[in-house]
Amino acid sequence: MKILILGGTTEARELAGRLCKRGDIGVILSLAGRTARPRDQGAPTRVGGFGGAVGLARYLRQENISILIDATHPYAATISANAADAASETGLPFLALRRAPWENLGGDDWREVENAAEAIAALGVARCCVFLALGRQEVAPFTNAPQHTYLVRSVDPIDPPLAVPNVTYVTARGPFSEADDRELLEQHRIEKIVAKNSGGDASYGKIAAARTLGIPLIMLRRPVLPDVHSAASVEDALAWCDHALTTAASRGV
Ligand code: NAP
Repeated sequence: MKILILGGTTEARELAGRLCKRGDIGVILSLAGRTARPRDQGAPTRVGGFGGAVGLARYLRQENISILIDATHPYAATISANAADAASETGLPFLALRRAPWENLGGDDWREVENAAEAIAALGVARCCVFLALGRQEVAPFTNAPQHTYLVRSVDPIDPPLAVPNVTYVTARGPFSEADDRELLEQHRIEKIVAKNSGGDASYGKIAAARTLGIPLIMLRRPVLPDVHSAASVEDALAWCDHALTTAASRGV
């Protein structure tokens, strides 16, 4: 039997690695291909889009996949919707592995916004130093607020660069510790942060550092994802896989 894991997250990599170690099932980890040099996934990997839900359903049939797991990032709403549609179209056992969002601990200064335009409005008109803790493809709208000084951190360089006069780029791959992020925020005199509520440990450093330094966070709200069976941890996903594999085996799939 074969499991397809839609990945691009720490959890997907961990889940794929743990399932590979079983030795009794085939595992394929799928990446969108957004980063030029993805880290070693520790599992057989394919790269690139499928061509929507229809293409994904076709792939599932062609590759004889028995189980589908959507372990993509909580802001990757299109692939999650496609996965739910393809699972329902093919009738495959399907699980979404979804991280819990970070919680505001009371003293945190967070403001939730719907999109980049609202984030720009929340930054205000007065010049300030802003850390854009967003993906490479999400920073372009901030050219509409060229008065601010930006710090942008991404895995691959931002290309084309932001058309604003004051911007510093840092290329780095997480995880990021609180101590390192505190140093970064202090070094660049950051006054506001725009971020996503990704959840998990790897990018929590900036959230903890913002708390310590009293820096306000403008948080892009999570997109609405399909209402499907889900697990919140790799352990829970593994337990679900055990059950799904046993059921599939007993049906002779
Ligand atoms: P998205 O907007 O939901 O998806 C756009 C298209 O990219 C999909 O329709 C699909 O193309 C392709 N795609 C996405 N994930 C894929 C996967 N794992 N395998 C194969 N094709 C995939 O996705 P996104 O927000 O750009 O995220 C892309 C990838 O980066 C995901 O794997 C996600 O887990 C990871 N990631 C995203 C974020 C984020 O903030 N969005 C952060 C960290 C990591 P087709 O329609 O052609 O199949």
